[in-house]
Amino acid sequence: MRFKTVLMFGAPGAGKGTQGAILGRIPGFFHMSCGDVFRNIDVNTDLGKAFYEYSSRGELVPDDVTVKMWAQVIGARTALGNYKPAADLLVLDGIPRTVEQAGLMDEHIEVLKIIHLVCNNETEMFDRLRRRALKENRHDDADEKVIRKRWDVYENETRPVLEHYSRDLIADVNSIGSPGQILHDILDYVVPTQDKHFTTFEG
Ligand code: ADP
Repeated sequence: MRFKTVLMFGAPGAGKGTQGAILGRIPGFFHMSCGDVFRNIDVNTDLGKAFYEYSSRGELVPDDVTVKMWAQVIGARTALGNYKPAADLLVLDGIPRTVEQAGLMDEHIEVLKIIHLVCNNETEMFDRLRRRALKENRHDDADEKVIRKRWDVYENETRPVLEHYSRDLIADVNSIGSPGQILHDILDYVVPTQDKHFTTFEG
């Protein structure tokens, strides 16, 4: 069985992580952020070192290792019973981030909805990334050149992922606004998806 999934999609700083984490607090949703998984890996391991190298340049970790790591983590969460595929809608943020990753993940996930956080204000996004760098001590958001690089990588490698999926799965949500308003707009799409596919809820 493939995991029933909602993708949080958007440029760096669009708020995927913030909104994904909020959804993850609601029973029946399981949130997983690929960036958080990477940041939690011990920096002394090979994968931890690779992550630090790529991310500090604003680049993506190679596709095959990323998807393998993702599959391992989700397998572990399932074994531990944190994530219950039969009862929980999986909310992924930060993965798939390339068309190649999307292809590799097709056998594992059934994408039911894509929340595309749209931002038409580049200056606002860059400000958010700078503020986050200060607040969360993110090495990849601290440098203007790295932020710019991450933005280019999004445009060139990540945005094309949208074309991998059927157009009618994609819901555009304005990512400029109060967190409550954005959550409200996201729930408009995600709640009916959950209701349609799941009948049992476990608290
Ligand atoms: P943001 O929320 O700002 O988009 P993330 O926390 O999701 O950033 O990711 C931080 C960094 O982790 C990325 O710049 C990249 O180096 C690495 N990373 C995260 N997810 C992936 C992925 N799916 N594929 C490759 N690299 C990734």
